[in-house]
Amino acid sequence: MHPTILEFQIMAAQVISSPAVPTPSLGEVPARLPAAGLKDKHGRTITDLRVSITDRCNYKCVYCRTGSEGAQFAELPLADYLRIIKVFVNLGIEKVRLTGGEPLLRKDLVSLVTQLAELRTLSGQPLDLALTTNGHLLAELATPLVQAGLSRITVSMDAVEPHTFERITRVPGSFQKVLAGLRAAQRAGLSPVKVNCVLLRGFNDNQVVPFAHFSRDEGVIVRFIEFMPLEEDRLWSPDVVVPLTEVVAQLNSFRPLAPLPATHSGETARRYTFDDGLGEVGIIAPVSQAFCGACSRIRLTSDGKIRTCLFSQFDHDLYGVLARGGSDGDLAAFIEKTVAVKEARHHIGEPGFLKPSRSMVHIGG
Ligand code: SAM
Repeated sequence: MHPTILEFQIMAAQVISSPAVPTPSLGEVPARLPAAGLKDKHGRTITDLRVSITDRCNYKCVYCRTGSEGAQFAELPLADYLRIIKVFVNLGIEKVRLTGGEPLLRKDLVSLVTQLAELRTLSGQPLDLALTTNGHLLAELATPLVQAGLSRITVSMDAVEPHTFERITRVPGSFQKVLAGLRAAQRAGLSPVKVNCVLLRGFNDNQVVPFAHFSRDEGVIVRFIEFMPLEEDRLWSPDVVVPLTEVVAQLNSFRPLAPLPATHSGETARRYTFDDGLGEVGIIAPVSQAFCGACSRIRLTSDGKIRTCLFSQFDHDLYGVLARGGSDGDLAAFIEKTVAVKEARHHIGEPGFLKPSRSMVHIGG
């Protein structure tokens, strides 16, 4: 049986430490940095770290937030994220995506990006440094972020029709702000900008073809994402999900789609252009065509907890190791043990599916 909203909110407010991964006793673990990279027990190599730097958000997207909840978890000083990220990078992380909440709300974000851009992967390359944002504050920040070394940006936009957009974000004027932010990012050199659109049946599923036009007109890559049960409230049901097959059919009815190859082995999106080669759209289908077998991700929440899967029932308290005075070796050992127990897959839509212990805005998308 599903928990009630109240039970869910209580669960989300709790910090649950996994019994499977006890905090190492400090001092027992020798400082060491393995060269082989981070592996889980299912043989997957983890190269992609998502870091939420706040769970505050200036939007109240209807499918994500109740509208009455604020931030629920602490945020760390940016220096603590930097230290933790360095340890992850020394273990084999190659991509770091800053997210939230809304990451542009963090003062000194540009300084964090500057310092992250100086890090090198195990093979001596700069990090692939990306940011996911709602774009509301991007017009002012795009150029400083590029100058600081940001490589890529994803802007979340769930409609290209302003009224629909603002019904979703519940912030008047948001469409024009985000459009200005997106264009500023392109001018600053972050082209092509990726645009993420979560589709909900009966709400914005009429935006698929308009987004195809948007991709072609604005020169952005649009990614349609299936809605996952990660909302603060309870509105997810399989009927609300607009599956990949349906999006493909709508796009094909506009113009014939032409598949594009994956850009890398852990690619989560099915990529397409159109028959004339103009525009790029992609579909990320974690519900109808799960890609857990190729998952290369791990997440750090704003309060310094590791989440091994969006749908985990537990957080792993990495910040606790740091707060107790742990060395970088202690942090590394904790990370390795935690990654090892990463879940094989999620169970969305299966009988007995349990909602995760945090919602998307409090994990970091
Ligand atoms: N505030 C930033 C933003 O809007 O992009 C970053 C955080 S937001 C939680 C990250 C992404 O998660 C957004 O693209 C959002 O649309 C997506 N998201 C939120 N809830 C979701 C859900 N239940 N299923 C799928 N995607 C979701």
